[in-house]
Amino acid sequence: MIVVMKSGASKEQIQKAVDTLDELGYKAHLIEGVLRTVIGAVGDERGKPQDAETLSVLEGVEKVMPILQPYKLASREFRTEPTEIKVRNAVVGNNKLPVIAGPCSVESEEQILEIATAVKEAGATMLRGGAYKPRTSPYAFQGLGIEGLKLLAKAREITGLPIVTEILDPHDLDAVVEYADVLQIGARNSQNYALLKQVGKSKKPVLLKRGMSTTIMEFLMCAEYILSEGNENVILCERGIRTFETATRNTFDLNAIPVLKEKTHLPIFADPSHGTGYWQYVIPMALAAIAAGADGLIIEVHNNPAVAISDGGQSLKPKKFATLMEKAAPVARAVGRDI
Ligand code: PEP
Ligand code: MN
Repeated sequence: MIVVMKSGASKEQIQKAVDTLDELGYKAHLIEGVLRTVIGAVGDERGKPQDAETLSVLEGVEKVMPILQPYKLASREFRTEPTEIKVRNAVVGNNKLPVIAGPCSVESEEQILEIATAVKEAGATMLRGGAYKPRTSPYAFQGLGIEGLKLLAKAREITGLPIVTEILDPHDLDAVVEYADVLQIGARNSQNYALLKQVGKSKKPVLLKRGMSTTIMEFLMCAEYILSEGNENVILCERGIRTFETATRNTFDLNAIPVLKEKTHLPIFADPSHGTGYWQYVIPMALAAIAAGADGLIIEVHNNPAVAISDGGQSLKPKKFATLMEKAAPVARAVGRDI
C-alpha cells in the first residue's frame, strides 16, 4: 500500500507511520517529495484490510491507497515520475539517451582498449564487456574473470567511460562491485532470485536483462526482487525473446518498450544486438527502439568481429557503430529526446 503523508507532516509523524508499518510486518520505502512524503509499504496485504485502516487514522496521514499490481516498488502507482540513475557523470532515465557499447567479451588488453577508444570517439556513454560469460556450452570460453575486470578498469581510466559488466555468481559480487559501475544481470539469470537479492543488497546500478521466456509481468517481478532489497537503481533491458521465428536469434519485443514505460518508472534500455543476432539488423532495430521510447541502448561492437570469441556475428565494427550514432540523433530528436 501507499501511505501519503500530509504536506507539512512532521518528522515524528512520518516516523510513527514507519514504525506502525514495521509492527504490522511491512517494509517501508520513503519517497521524500518537495511537497510531501510518500511511504511505499511492501509486504503481504492479503486478508488484512484493517492494516490500511490502522494507518489512515494516524496523525499526519492524508490517505492510504492499495498498490494493485504485484510489482509494488517497480510500479507507476508507487512512483509516478521516471526514475533517474546516476552512473559516474552519466545520467540514465532523463531526456538524453545513454549508449552503452563494447564487445560481448573482454578478450585481451589490446582488444578492449582499441574498442573502448573507438566507441568513445563515436559518442558512446559507457563501455560494456563481459569478464564472466554465461555460455550455452560449458566448453565455450567462460571469460577472463578478474583479469577481464582489471582490463575494463584500465579502459575506463583511459577513456573515462563507466563500465557495464555481467555478474554470474553471487560469490563474485565483491570483485565485480569493486570494478564495475553497472552490474549486468544476463537473460539466463534474470530469474536467479538468489543473485537478484544479492545485487539488491548492493547500491550499484543494475542493468537487468529480460529473460528469453519471461513475460513482462515476470520481468517486473524480477526487478521487484532487486528493489525490495533496497537497491533503487534498476535499469530494465529488452533483449529479445524466444519465439517460433528462426530467421533471427531472438524476436526483439519492441512492444515491451511502451508497455513497460506505462507500467513502471524504471528506465528501459534496448539491446538490438542480442535481440536480432545479426549485425545487419542492429541499426534499424536500434532506431526503432528509440522511436518506441527506449531510454538508452546497449550495442555490441568489435574491432574484428570475424575473430571475436563470442557474438561476432551480431557485433558492429566501430565504423558502423559511428553510423548508428549519426542515424540515432535525428530519430531521438523526432521523439523529443537527445542522444
Ligand atoms: C551479453 O550481454 O553479452 C549477454 C550474454 O546478453 P544476454 O544475457 O541478453 O544473452
Ligand atoms: Mn553477447
